[in-house]
Amino acid sequence: MFVNGEWKDSSSGENIPVLNPATGLSIAEVPSATDDDVAFAAESARISFDEGAWSKISPGERSTVLLKVASVIEERTEELAKLETKITGKSIKQTIGYDLPYTVDNIRFLAGAARILEGKAMGEYVREGTSAIRREAIGVVGVITPWNYPLMMVIWRAFPALAMGNSVIVKPASYTPLTTLELANMVEKAGVPKGVFNVITGPGGRVGEAIARNKNVDMIAFTGSTEVGKKLHELGSSTLKKVSVELGGKAPFIVFEDADLEAATESAIVGGLVNNGEDCANSTRYYVQESVKDKFTKRLMEKMKRVKVGNPMDPKTDVGPLISSSQRDRVEWYIEKGLEQGGKLLEGGDRPKIKGMEKGFYLNPAIISTENQQSAIVQEEIFGPVFSVLPFSTYDDAISKSNDVIYGLGSSVWTRNVTTAMNAVKDLRFGTVWVNEHVTVPSEMPWAGYKQSGHGASLSAYSLEEFTYIKHVYFDLTGKVRKSWYSQIYGGQ
Ligand code: NAD
Repeated sequence: MFVNGEWKDSSSGENIPVLNPATGLSIAEVPSATDDDVAFAAESARISFDEGAWSKISPGERSTVLLKVASVIEERTEELAKLETKITGKSIKQTIGYDLPYTVDNIRFLAGAARILEGKAMGEYVREGTSAIRREAIGVVGVITPWNYPLMMVIWRAFPALAMGNSVIVKPASYTPLTTLELANMVEKAGVPKGVFNVITGPGGRVGEAIARNKNVDMIAFTGSTEVGKKLHELGSSTLKKVSVELGGKAPFIVFEDADLEAATESAIVGGLVNNGEDCANSTRYYVQESVKDKFTKRLMEKMKRVKVGNPMDPKTDVGPLISSSQRDRVEWYIEKGLEQGGKLLEGGDRPKIKGMEKGFYLNPAIISTENQQSAIVQEEIFGPVFSVLPFSTYDDAISKSNDVIYGLGSSVWTRNVTTAMNAVKDLRFGTVWVNEHVTVPSEMPWAGYKQSGHGASLSAYSLEEFTYIKHVYFDLTGKVRKSWYSQIYGGQ
């Protein structure tokens, strides 16, 4: 672990293994932090914040350091992409071609945007004084990240915090700590002062909860499941921490009869399978207008047959293994449940045999046709490659079914009619609506949730504001001993 500028073992000496999901074999061990380790990291972060070697320098100086990290990640893209693929099972095509370059772009945006953070103009909102707004760092931020984009999610949550002058303690998911530990190395070399960026590893239930309870931690920035997000709100309440949560999704993909079906099906495959179907933005519920449902489904099945599931290190592989054996069990449970609840399996859902990798957690993506809006596969986040295809009749039917889940993260609408598209943009209760596309999020735009998908905002200038307190500053303009409103106390005296 990386704490207070030094590499450390757990004070208990205990370690936990890190597996390669492609082979099911252990590739490393990392420390399992104790409560004392968490307390020490939180205290170091607190001291570093109060001393001000990071919190009190200019945004430009912090930006320069973060930009160095971006350049080092860029130089090491291939090596880091391989490590990310090894710990997650996602295809090397994706980590080299997308995850790493996008992560670098995310940092460059955040580092730059931190220099132009604006407030409302100073002004005389009462005649006798001038008011201004300041945005100031919150202090120590506990950053708890999921396993699906290990490196990127640390950047999305820890880097806006750092850019605004906070100190952070990062706890990566137990399955995928290795690239986060590498990041600590790069952050240190780039010149972030000791104690400002700490990484502690270990099981979420213990280490994550200890961070949430700690009095030296002022804020929690969590990306992960809705269930754990709720728990962290409870734990944080004992010290009234600010808790920013980015949680699960269940994205609808709405196809109207006038849509370009070739474009829609092409995107449906990518939208559902990117990141092995373990992406909070994945399209999972395909609502297709009755008149074109058969045509859409046939094309979807044809395209799915061409998807290559296999060794994620092979550049020709499209979809790698799921993250763990228990995750695969969970996805299979949902497939069975979907069939029990009236669905028909059209494609996949079985385990492929990948030569030499028999212990890997592979699963062929499944397409299930169903009309049961209340089915578990339609209502709950599966977090695996399961496509539910459902019919709809009218515009209102499509919108009401799409909104009928507890989540509100990503959504997309497919139509050539601009009026239909604009109405859907207004009526869909989701933090992102894509029109004739699914998944793209530029660094400049917010990634945020509605409903039980959370209420934080990642990326964009909004993510920087998340990691600040807002302060009102008032300057008296009169120079008088007794201002006009003091008459409320002094009356006629
Ligand atoms: P998870 O909630 O199980 O774990 C996330 C992190 O929390 C891990 O570091 C884990 O160790 C830790 N944790 C687990 N139990 C904890 C507890 N009791 N207290 C404190 N920390 C605890 O989620 P996951 O399985 O790692 O990731 C998948 C989830 O993340 C999905 O729901 C997905 O939709 C969501 N996700 C959301 C976004 C977004 O931007 N909204 C992005 C990526 C992933």
